[in-house]
Amino acid sequence: MTPETRGLHHVTAIASDPSANAAFYVDTLGLRFVKRTVNHDDTGTYHFYFGDGEGSPGSTITFFPWGENGREGEFGAGLTETTAYLIPEGSLGYWRDRLADAAVPVVERERFGATVLSFEDPDGIGIELVVDADAEGCGEPWAESPVPAEHQLRGLYGVTLAVADVEPTATVLEDVLGYERDGTELDAGGSPDADERTRYRYRASGGGPGSVVDLVETDLPRGRMGAGAVHHVAFTAADVDEQHAYRDAYADLGLEATEPIDRTYFHAIYCREPGGVLFEIATTGPGFTADEAVEDLGGDLMLPERLEDERERIEATLPAFELPANHQEGER
Ligand code: ZN
Repeated sequence: MTPETRGLHHVTAIASDPSANAAFYVDTLGLRFVKRTVNHDDTGTYHFYFGDGEGSPGSTITFFPWGENGREGEFGAGLTETTAYLIPEGSLGYWRDRLADAAVPVVERERFGATVLSFEDPDGIGIELVVDADAEGCGEPWAESPVPAEHQLRGLYGVTLAVADVEPTATVLEDVLGYERDGTELDAGGSPDADERTRYRYRASGGGPGSVVDLVETDLPRGRMGAGAVHHVAFTAADVDEQHAYRDAYADLGLEATEPIDRTYFHAIYCREPGGVLFEIATTGPGFTADEAVEDLGGDLMLPERLEDERERIEATLPAFELPANHQEGER
């Protein structure tokens, strides 16, 4: 028996230029730069986390900016097509105007009865804002955001995963992660001339925001990881005990998940589901205040303790980076 799932924890993608990446998520989307660190497995690469005012689980999108010369990704089966954030009902006009002012091309559509604004970040990563009545009261506002508190993004809404065949991925969602089929809809795809296709909606049994996973089928070959591609999708677990229950559930399907790995801000297990998407399950704690006070989040480059001795060397190898205009400096 798997635990009652709580929906998404974060989404992690590959960017190219770190400055353009941070400027888009902070200055345009108004998210807080909640953590500036390095890829713990590759310390020559930044790891950026953007989220709500406190970096709450379920609010963060994170990036490995591989630099201007990093390999480009290629969209295909086994990749995340879009990552969606919640906005409140009264904020649709605000976001139409804000994205137009920022010269971001937007496609507006209705999906499962909700209005969706679809656009791309500077690396071509698909982002959506979904109007949802449940958004009110979700998330922790960030007082210094360029977006007024009432219009700020209220946390992740869901993801759309593109796979060659829905069934194997659906089995993992249902049998391991506790998701349930929540309807299907015909969908015109990412562009007006795209063929109609079926969108299969799954919802975490716990319900609530951040609990939606949509599956769509694609004829494209397996996608290639690189700038502009989502690296993995992370679901939420309460603690390491729950992660072990999820590992057992994966094993029941003949799939092997990693042991829990300490990522400083959470523990994580990983398993590539049969459709090709890398699924992480991350614990809610200890959170981004593990090494910075909430008022200082993102103010400094943070390194795990084992790398602190190498700070000088690490800082010298990181690519040039300009902080976003609305960045909040640490108080120290
Ligand atoms: Zn992750």
